[in-house]
Amino acid sequence: MKDPRIGEAAAAPPLDGPLLDGDGPIADSRNDFAGDFRGPARPSGDGSPHGLHPHDAYLRPGRIPHIWCDGCGLGTSLTGFIEGVLRSGIPWERVAVVSGIGCTGRAAGYLSLDGYHTTHGRPIPFATGLSLAKPDMRVVVYSGDGDLFAIGGNHFIHAARRNADLLVYCVNNFNYAMTGGQMGPTTPGGAWTSTSPAGHVEKPFNLVHMAVAAGATYVARWTTLHVRQLMEGVSEAMGMRGFRFIEVISPCPTCFGRKNDLGRGLDTMKAYRDRTTILHGADPADGAIGLDGRFVVGTFLNAPRPTFGELYGAMASGAAPAAGGEE
Ligand code: SF4
Repeated sequence: MKDPRIGEAAAAPPLDGPLLDGDGPIADSRNDFAGDFRGPARPSGDGSPHGLHPHDAYLRPGRIPHIWCDGCGLGTSLTGFIEGVLRSGIPWERVAVVSGIGCTGRAAGYLSLDGYHTTHGRPIPFATGLSLAKPDMRVVVYSGDGDLFAIGGNHFIHAARRNADLLVYCVNNFNYAMTGGQMGPTTPGGAWTSTSPAGHVEKPFNLVHMAVAAGATYVARWTTLHVRQLMEGVSEAMGMRGFRFIEVISPCPTCFGRKNDLGRGLDTMKAYRDRTTILHGADPADGAIGLDGRFVVGTFLNAPRPTFGELYGAMASGAAPAAGGEE
């Protein structure tokens, strides 16, 4: 039975203002949202311009092969993101991706769109500035749990509080993977990492709870097993404005999986099948994830409110301030 949440691709809302490129507006065709634009044309024949992958048109083949390990979930997260953007109807060239440092941060360099690989923990302030300067763009922060919730944690909560117009797409693999598997802000209690060799004793962040509490307007969590729901979630979130957060639970067999005897990537996917409960509208306070036991995936919140840019623009134009700060 079809998931009732999965409907037709969300119609792209109109975006105001011309798409500027230094000297002035770019060709009118780039401002046309009426057509069935799905990014660079999908080639026929061999399935890709290079004959390698159907997503070649959305990637930078010169950066491939990627650095990601066998069994890692990051490739699936990237597929979910690309397909979600295409389903949303947002023109590919209207999307910008900003990443921080880490294995996940490589995504901005692999995607064939305006991408920025910023310094550690700083993709959100960079992206906030970009979205304010270019409100006709859809700005996405694509980064990992360590980057976004340790050194970048303060940026996350304040961008959510302000309702900055960003989609934050966070791949959570529960450790600092690129630097050798150190414990991080989402590492479950009891887990073993390279810096908790006797077991981790700290309480981890529940990211969906933090996002809702800080003021996000859309909050969802999926795993790399739930790739169809993930695509629909990206499509839904791309069609909205405001601070949106999607957490993607993902295997890291090389570091976190090896240290905790979780097996290969496929074993972790089987664990996602057995451990997850799909529940939309769940209380995010019940969204904690342990080293074992069940956890909730689904859409936790969908409650749009005026964005920071909209409120600031209204104030600057002399209009009465909207009640955006009351929540
Ligand atoms: S170290 Fe972990 S997160 Fe990084 S690419 Fe390898 S499996 Fe993926």
